[in-house]
Amino acid sequence: MDEDCIFCKIIRGDFKTAFVAESERVVAFNDVSPVAPAHILVVPKLHITALRDLDDLTLGAEMLGLVQNVAELSGLLDTGYRLITNDGEEAGQSVLHLHFHVLGGRKLATSMG
Ligand code: 5GP
Ligand code: ZN
Repeated sequence: MDEDCIFCKIIRGDFKTAFVAESERVVAFNDVSPVAPAHILVVPKLHITALRDLDDLTLGAEMLGLVQNVAELSGLLDTGYRLITNDGEEAGQSVLHLHFHVLGGRKLATSMG
């Protein structure tokens, strides 16, 4: 728990944010500023700054498992979805708590950058 971290506060329940899905060590909730009809964040409950700091790869696997659940629950399996993580400043990471973006519900641009 990082006192100043917005995602730690969400996970702690400070804002009563609804979780789209949850597993033992991971939660998923809607992004507050969605860039696609479906824009869900998959976030470890433990405060980890970015992917580079993820040492326990079983937690990474659990995150991917929740991505699969979220994609199914959000009806994205027929049309497809995109999975993104921003690690560090040049990638545009703005919240320094590891998260995967799950994006779908419209045709996404093919450009990677
Ligand atoms: P990043 O830029 O770090 O990859 O992504 C951070 C994401 O967190 C952004 O898409 C932003 O809209 C989202 N975000 C920032 N603050 C909040 C918040 O308080 N609640 C929710 N649900 N999403 C947030
Ligand atoms: Zn945090």
